[in-house]
Amino acid sequence: MRNPPTALFALLGSPVAGNPTGAMIEAACRSVGLDEGRYVSIDVADEGLAGAVSALRTLGVTGFHVTIPHKVAVRTHVDRLTSAAEATGAVNCVKREASELVGDNTDGRGFVASLEPVVALRGARVLVLGAGGAARAVAVESALAGAASILVANRSPARAAELVELVHRAGTESTAVPWAIPLAIPAGTDIVVNATSVGMLDADDAVAVEWSGAEPGVAADVVIRPSTRFLEDAAGAGWTPVDGLGMLIEQAAAGFRWWTGREPHRDVMRAALADALG
Ligand code: NDP
Repeated sequence: MRNPPTALFALLGSPVAGNPTGAMIEAACRSVGLDEGRYVSIDVADEGLAGAVSALRTLGVTGFHVTIPHKVAVRTHVDRLTSAAEATGAVNCVKREASELVGDNTDGRGFVASLEPVVALRGARVLVLGAGGAARAVAVESALAGAASILVANRSPARAAELVELVHRAGTESTAVPWAIPLAIPAGTDIVVNATSVGMLDADDAVAVEWSGAEPGVAADVVIRPSTRFLEDAAGAGWTPVDGLGMLIEQAAAGFRWWTGREPHRDVMRAALADALG
């Protein structure tokens, strides 16, 4: 490639149709004067992942995102992992540094940044619902941000136990809470996070929570929708809702800053996201 574009970015995942990240990143590029920044979303099957990463390396990509189902598998196709990627066991963002591809995980930092204007994580007692990729990023990064304790409730107890162990390794108190429907919130919980995928495919679907059993605090949802039934139910019981769009914007902003060294304009990214989500 003799004349690579100023900045080439990509998304590898499956499915990628409808993923709004490209719209946000191209808008961020324009907002900082990187007018030639281009972002392509590529649908890659499991068996095509190694070839796709190799092709992006050859094309001189500036950086790329990785989404479901490749966040774990891609670790073996990059040259180096950041401490966040090591701690969570998943990569959502890759940067080319000279001849190396470096894998990071910005999901958790995006979550922490999205909560900052609403509530302090330092000293907070957090209940995380779920133990998949998003839950791991949320739990580990909340622990690193100074949460006092992280309770984990997950449908599959074995995965909950793994996440509890991961949080312990980050130096924070953590316990698994039995999965029950409806889920009772332990007294003293400050922040409840839906980090399951329930609500992603059907906006009316929600993990059933017995909200009235605890003093209201903050309820956050990672699901990428401006509103979910989980948040509506929480708000109805007096909890302060925080949607997953802020996390999406902040994780993309963290990757953009890492890739380009520039601070993107959040309002421009938010407008592009709203447009893309219709
Ligand atoms: P995973 O497949 O890794 O994990 C899914 C989790 O949801 C597991 O804990 C799983 O439990 C649980 N789950 C799924 N179905 C049910 C159900 N019917 N009842 C109870 N629990 C269920 O997915 P991810 O963690 O990668 O993604 C989760 C969500 O986070 C998605 O909606 C994704 O779009 C969103 N996300 C949002 C981001 C943002 O920036 N806002 C960033 C990254 C992800 P079990 O272990 O028992 O199967």
